[in-house]
Amino acid sequence: MTFYPGPSKLYPQVADYLREAYESGILSSNHRSLRFMSLVEETYNLLREKLGIPADYGIYFASSATECWEIVAQSLTERGSAHLFNGAFGQKWAEYAEKLCKPVFRLPFGVDEDVTLREKFQFLALDHYDIVCLTHNETSNGTQLPNLPAFQHFQGLKCFDATSSMGGVDFDWALGDVWFASVQKCLGLPAGLALLVCSPKALAHAERVGDRARYNSLLFIHENAEKFQTHYTPNGLGIYLLNRVLRHVPPIAQVAEKVHQRALDWYRFLEEKTAWRPLVSNPAVRSDTVIAVSGELAEIKAIKTRCQAEGITLGNGYGAWKDTTFRIANFPAIDDDEIAELQKWLV
Ligand SMILES: *Cc1c(COP(=O)(O)O)cnc(C)c1O
Repeated sequence: MTFYPGPSKLYPQVADYLREAYESGILSSNHRSLRFMSLVEETYNLLREKLGIPADYGIYFASSATECWEIVAQSLTERGSAHLFNGAFGQKWAEYAEKLCKPVFRLPFGVDEDVTLREKFQFLALDHYDIVCLTHNETSNGTQLPNLPAFQHFQGLKCFDATSSMGGVDFDWALGDVWFASVQKCLGLPAGLALLVCSPKALAHAERVGDRARYNSLLFIHENAEKFQTHYTPNGLGIYLLNRVLRHVPPIAQVAEKVHQRALDWYRFLEEKTAWRPLVSNPAVRSDTVIAVSGELAEIKAIKTRCQAEGITLGNGYGAWKDTTFRIANFPAIDDDEIAELQKWLV
C-alpha cells in the first residue's frame, strides 16, 4: 500500500491494460502508422472529454514535467520568465529556466500565504517577462493555489506546473496558457509520460519566438501533433495505458469533488483525532491531492518505520521539510479502505 506522492499507486486495472497492450501488438507498431495515430487521436479526445481541456488548446506528449520546464524556457521565453514559488518544485523550475540563460525574476512566498492576493502589486515587474510561472500544486509542501490568479495587468503567458493536480482537480483551463503534468501522480500511471497543454495564445507566442533549434521545440512538437504524430518515437505503452485509464475514470468534476472531500476529511482527521498537524495552517492554501503532515523528528522516523513494517509506504518530507514532515498522497487511484487503514496507524 503506497501513499507516496509520485510515483504513486497505480490504478489496479493497469495490470490488465499492460497485458492487453502487449497482446494487441500496438507496442510494435510504428508511431507514424495509421493505427498508432488513431490511438493518439482517441487519447486527445478522451483528455478533452474527461479532463475538460478546451477544444482550441493543443495537447502534446513529453517525457516528464521536468522536460516541460525546459520546453517552456526554450520555446516560449525570449525576454525571461517570472517565477512565483513557495517550495522545492517551483524553485527548481526557476533554476532550470535560469540555466538556460534567461533572465529570471523570483518571487518566493510563504507556505501559508495566498499569493494570488499579491498579484496587483507585481504586475509592473512581471511586464518585463514573457511568461509567469506558478506551481499549481506544490508537491513538496502540500500547498495549492486556491484561485487561479487572473493577472489582469500582465500581457504575457500564464503557465502552471500542474504535475500533482492534473487529473485530481477541476481547472478553469482558460485562465492558463500553458499547463503540464506527468502521469505518475494524479493519473495513477507509471512514470515516463507527460502532458503539455497550450492555448492558442501560447502557440502564437511560440511562432513569434520562433525556436526551431531543438528536437523539443514547441513548434516542431505542434506540427507533429496536428497529424496525431509525435516528434520522436514516444512512450507508446504510456499512451496506451493513459488511453485505457481515461476511458475508465469519471469526468473530472466528479473526481475532483471526491478528492476535495477526502482532503477535507484528512485535515479534519489530523487535527481532531491525532497529535499530528498539517504542515500548512492556512486552510485556503492546503492541497487537495498531497497532504503534508508535520511532527517531531523522532516521531516522524518512528511512524515511517512502523508503517513500513505494516507494508504501508508514506511519502518522505521534501526539500526544506525533509525531516520534519511526511506526505500522504490523496490521489484518485487510492481507495477509501486504504486511507482507513493508514489512519488507524496514525492514531
Ligand atoms: C513530480 C513533480 C515534478 C517532476 O516531475 P517529473 O515527471 O519527474 O519530471 C515537477 N513538478 C511538480 C509540481 C511535481 O510534483
